[in-house]
Parts: sequence; structure tokens; C-alpha cells
Amino acid sequence: MCGIIGIENNENAAVLASAGLITLQHRGEESAGITISGKEKMKTFRSMGLVSALFNEDTSINKLQGTAVIGHVRYSTSAKNSLINAQPFQITCIHGNIAVAHNGNITNFLKIKEMLLKKGAIFNHTSDTEILLHLIAMSKGSLADVTAKALQKLEGAFSLVILKDKTLIGARDEHGFRPLVLGKIGNSYIISSETAAIEVIGGKYIRDIMPSEIVVIENGQIKKSFFYKKPKQQHTCIFEQVYFSRPDSIMFGKIIKEVRVKMGEFLADQMKGIKADIVMSVPDTGYYAALGFARASNILFENGFVRNHYVGRSFIKPSQNLRDVTARLKLRPIKEVVNGKDIILIDDSIVRGTTSRRLRGVLKDAGAKKIHFVLSCPPIIGSCYYGIDTPTKDHLIAARSSIEEMRKYLGVESLTFLSLDNLVKACSFADKKDKVFCTACFTGKYPTKISKNTYKEGC
Ligand code: AMP
Repeated sequence: MCGIIGIENNENAAVLASAGLITLQHRGEESAGITISGKEKMKTFRSMGLVSALFNEDTSINKLQGTAVIGHVRYSTSAKNSLINAQPFQITCIHGNIAVAHNGNITNFLKIKEMLLKKGAIFNHTSDTEILLHLIAMSKGSLADVTAKALQKLEGAFSLVILKDKTLIGARDEHGFRPLVLGKIGNSYIISSETAAIEVIGGKYIRDIMPSEIVVIENGQIKKSFFYKKPKQQHTCIFEQVYFSRPDSIMFGKIIKEVRVKMGEFLADQMKGIKADIVMSVPDTGYYAALGFARASNILFENGFVRNHYVGRSFIKPSQNLRDVTARLKLRPIKEVVNGKDIILIDDSIVRGTTSRRLRGVLKDAGAKKIHFVLSCPPIIGSCYYGIDTPTKDHLIAARSSIEEMRKYLGVESLTFLSLDNLVKACSFADKKDKVFCTACFTGKYPTKISKNTYKEGC
């Protein structure tokens, strides 16, 4: 998963884009980068780690001259966790200097890469995003035209920002898998993965960039906006609502915090009559669902974990060893809260089962009597091909075990998942019934054709 941002026509573009990227940091902690243009020659700065690691004495953010910026935060699979794959990617080609930042996964990457290799293309990165630059470089016309021609060849999930001189382009795949929104600050447009990044820097959210849409922005104006392909039925990732997006971001007109509270209310309804002393959340994503559950069930909400904020998201660390260490560091139960209690513990999801099993252990060690483990989404049974780094099916605990088997493995008194119907109900919006979500990780039904050649390790 990744986060992207673009700002144009602004003297403070670099500072604003960096603040926006920090707001999107939860979407990727492994590398960060920005590309700046509009005054001096286009420059790109990339580094491993957090956005804060991007700048030092030499690359002081205040010294960056330019009025147009794109930026990227990255969260990758282990094989590709290196500076060479940090984005934005910048190239020089027949059209001049161009940079791109991408969130998603181009599923026909391998096929297109092979075709490009046969034509003599040279690859610098191992990331799927690079093929887009090759396709742009090899075709003739305006930036908007060559971008459209390139995107027509791509399949899968891609929300993109592209920069050339003072021109900023935002584009989204035909299903709208990953979010991409448009905002404004003064006379400058902003493109971002989430609305929160627009608001944090003082901007206003205007609208979503639509599936199949290309928006071309120059000098504070939308110069052109068009569909490069007939949009397909929208399939925006429902896991954004469950886990990935910030609770203060808005999706389909609803603030995600409220959607998560609703998930908790539906869970309370599914578990009507359950007796417990306290409702607790696994920080941070389980928080709002736990709040909703506590309110709806009239069971006391308690904060029973202390989270160490100096450890990244445990899942984000690429190797299993590191994941275990960071997970142990991350959450510590407060004995005085949990000792002797029957607890309803709410997290957003179970992937491999590692976190939940460990949390059950630390809570029991701290004296918890009973643990009812509750998840604000259905069991994850399918790997994601559209940009979320879920492991392959054989590593997904729910893909190979029944709920009762999982309950036994986790060692909890009961195990409850939000039903798919209730999840969709919590996320849905009354006025736009034509939009639907991608729920493939819960159903195994993918909106695009998946075969053994389908590429899965995008950004
Ligand atoms: P696991 O321990 O493998 O079952 O992972 C479950 C935990 O990872 C939950 O606490 C989730 O909040 C978190 N999580 C779920 N999906 C992802 C993801 N794609 N990336 C990072 N963290 C995730």
C-alpha cells in the first residue's frame, strides 16, 4: 500500500506536500520521496524510512525551489524493499523530465514488461510503476494523450500522480480500486490519496477523481479532465474503510470514523445478549468499532492497552523476525484494567493470526478471565491483487481454518467476525447506489480476471 500527493501552482508546494505526506504516513513507512519542479530543473529526493528522514542539511525542505510537487510514501513486500524502488520515479525522455508516483498494483505488469524488454527497454527498478514511464516515453503527443494511451494498456489498480514542469496529472484505474481525491488551497489544486491530507494543509476537499478519469492541472486551473477508457463498475477497496484509511478521511461522503462506529454497532447487534465487564480495542484501528460496540451494548469501554508510538505498524516490517519483535514492543496491557475481567476485545482484522494469538497471551498473563475476540470485518480468505500486501492464501489463517478452529488456535472464549452484509451496510451511502466495493479478500470473487501470471506485488 502507498500514499500519494500532488500540489501545483504554490510557492510552498514542497512544505505543503511534505506535511500532506506525513498525514499519509500510515499508508507506508518504508520509503518516502518527493519530486519538485516549476522553477529549477526537476529534482527528486527519495529515502528509506519515514517522511521525516527525507530532509537533512543538504536537502532542507525550505531550500527546495519549485511550485509543483508530487510525493509518495511506500509500503512494500520484502523483495522490493530498497531505495531503488522508492518513488517518485523521475525520467528524462522525448517529452522532457517526467515523474510519477503510484498507489496500487498493475496486474498485467509482467506481460507488458516482457513486451517492452523485447523492444529493447532497459529497466532500473523492479517495481510495476516503471512500465508506465516506458509506455509514456515511447508514445507521441501531449502529456495528457500519452498518459491516456499508456493507461489504456494497464490492468489492475492504479491511482497516480504525474508531474512535468508545471503540469500535474491525477489518474485512476477503471474500477477505482484505490482512492484518489481532488482538493484546493487558495489558487492551487491538490491531489491526494485521502481527504485528511488535504485538510491538514489547510485545503478543501472538492471531489473524488473518478474511475478511468485523467485530470490535467496547470496554473491553478483544471485544464482538461476526461475518461481515457469507459469506466467499469466501481470497485473501491472496502479494506480502506476497515483498516487502511485514516478515521478523519472522507470516503463516499462519509467520515470513516463514523463508518467504523457503525461496524461496532452492527457487531453488538450480531452478539446481542453477550455478557462482559469491559469492551477494549486493539489500538488504533479497532478503536471506533469498539466505541460503537460499547455504546450499542451498554458495556463499559476501557482503554486497556498502552501503545508504544515509537514502533511502526508491526505488519509493515518486512521480515517475520522483525514483525515479532516490533509486535511485542507495541502493545502492553494495563493489569489494573484487565485483571479478573471478561473482555470483549475488538480489532479490525485477522490476517495470519499472529497478532490476535499474541494479544490473547498477554491479556491472559495480565489476569484477564475471558476474552471474546471480535473483528470489524469478515474472515480474510483471499489475497489482494489490487495493492494491499496480504500474504498468499496459504498464509491466511481464515483460508485454511473454520471459525471454530481459529477460535481454538487463538485460545479465546468466542470469536466473532462482522458479517459481509453488515460491513457493506456500514460502508454504504444512500445516494450513490451505483458504486460498489471490492470485497474480494472476503469472498474470493475478484472483479478482474486473476490467473497464475497475475502480478501481485505492486505498490
Ligand atoms: P495478523 O497478526 O497477521 O493476523 O495481522 C492482523 C493485524 O494486522 C491486525 O491487528 C490488523 O490491524 C493489521 N493488519 C491487517 N491487514 C493489514 C495490512 N494489509 N497491512 C498492515 N497491517 C494489517
